[in-house]
Amino acid sequence: MRLVIDEVRCKGCNLCTLVCPYRIFKPGTIANRKGILVPVTDRPERCTNCRLQKIYGRTLCGMCQMICPDQAINWVNEEVYEPHRVVVED
Ligand code: SF4
Ligand code: SF4
Repeated sequence: MRLVIDEVRCKGCNLCTLVCPYRIFKPGTIANRKGILVPVTDRPERCTNCRLQKIYGRTLCGMCQMICPDQAINWVNEEVYEPHRVVVED
């Protein structure tokens, strides 16, 4: 699972930056096209939901998602890494 902020929905209220126990959300510094400072994530793989939700099959923390007034926080499935052979021609 990977944590994503939907930039279209986010209004930059920064509530998510206040509740995360791991301080994964940081206030944004660069305004997007709508002039909104969307928070940035700092090592989002530390989120319990990212690491453990798939194992336990349920939401473990979810504070940021609960407090976000615009439903802008979600987790998306990540592709499983598939190693592949690279042929080197000589
Ligand atoms: S689910 Fe919890 S740990 Fe994960 S980013 Fe949100 S507040 Fe932080
Ligand atoms: S709580 Fe939601 S709307 Fe507010 S800054 Fe965070 S992601 Fe954006």
